[in-house]
Amino acid sequence: MCSVLAVAELLTVEDALARVLAAVRPLESEAVTLSAASGRVLSEDARAAVDLPRFASSAMDGFAVRAADTPGTLPVVGQVAAGRPAERALAAGEAMTISTGGVVPEGADAVVPIELVTQEGDTVAIAQAAPHGANVRPRGGDVVAGDVVVPAGTPLTPSRLAALASTGITALLCSRRPKVSIVSTGTELRQPGEPLREGEIYESNGLMLAALLAGSGADVRPLGHVEDDPAAHEAALARGLECDVLVTSGGVSVGPHDLVRETLTRLGVEETFWGVAMRPGKPLSFGTREGVLVFGLPGNPVSSLVGALLFLLPAIRALQGRRHPEPGFGVGTLAAPAARRASRDDFQRAALERVGDDVVLTPLAGQESHMIARAAAADALVHVPRGDGELSAGSRVRYLPLDGSAGA
Ligand code: AMP
Ligand code: MG
Repeated sequence: MCSVLAVAELLTVEDALARVLAAVRPLESEAVTLSAASGRVLSEDARAAVDLPRFASSAMDGFAVRAADTPGTLPVVGQVAAGRPAERALAAGEAMTISTGGVVPEGADAVVPIELVTQEGDTVAIAQAAPHGANVRPRGGDVVAGDVVVPAGTPLTPSRLAALASTGITALLCSRRPKVSIVSTGTELRQPGEPLREGEIYESNGLMLAALLAGSGADVRPLGHVEDDPAAHEAALARGLECDVLVTSGGVSVGPHDLVRETLTRLGVEETFWGVAMRPGKPLSFGTREGVLVFGLPGNPVSSLVGALLFLLPAIRALQGRRHPEPGFGVGTLAAPAARRASRDDFQRAALERVGDDVVLTPLAGQESHMIARAAAADALVHVPRGDGELSAGSRVRYLPLDGSAGA
């Protein structure tokens, strides 16, 4: 079990992601009310219950008229407000005041904005011809009842929720939220606030992973940290396996106190792979037990971060039936040269600056996997693909944002 990870045995990042996604069985669906659906992923196409606009409505405050009567001076015979339609149809040669969102009365086919008219007593003088249909929003111009408003597999963002509400949808079928447990391993770990004895460090991965998962739709169960002791591992990991996903940090490398993989094996987890050709984060393990996904992230905080962004978050999206679960890379320009590694993809912490329409990425000093404090200065992870030589300054590169949006 404690064989050293030779580069030749490592999976590429692409192959590792493909294996993770292939192991995902999407979760079942449940009914969700619209007010509780923010961030959920739709399991079936949501179709409009009503036309939108629901009726021909005015786009402006002004006067409803027949276009053929303009220009001209017309008697104002009625008033239309939003939610207060006219009591009768508009006849030839007449005008009615109308507000934005008001029902354009039968017989009218244009609205002349208030800014373009002169009101004199009970009449309105319109100096210019109004085109047919001017400032009238036709019924069904946004969507027609029965049409798909949001397709299955789409996360419900604020604008999509508004679209569903506007079209009269009240009940939705969404994916169940994945339950994700987090276990940090390491005898040396203490919670921030506790006194540190010689050799001890503050635990940070649990908090980071929970924060990364916060926007992902997952129901996060932080299970705290455990000592490097087989019984303690077994108890904590067995509890974690009661969720849909178990994420561990630390203890997946080759040291005598790295107990995660052997404990998982004892608990019946089948390892799909161990070792990915990337830096940082090489000794990452992934396996399954009866549909439960198990990610063994390396303990170094930056390694855990990279592993979670590249593999864990895509799996959480796939579990919810997302159509595009893969990491959402942006593209930008490298500000300084970056050396490539022959056989490992590198994910470098970088500052991100918007310059005009471009995103400029400057790799930071301090790229070692334990340097989480240095990583605090980074806005993005730049992907430096494996290969010979270096990427020169000015190269186009892919990056993942570190602003928390990567979970969504
Ligand atoms: P490991 O993968 O267990 O060998 O840990 C690698 C390094 O990461 C060691 O220096 C650990 O002390 C550190 N480490 C492990 N887990 C955590 C954690 N939860 N928070 C912060 N550092 C950790
Ligand atoms: Mg450890």
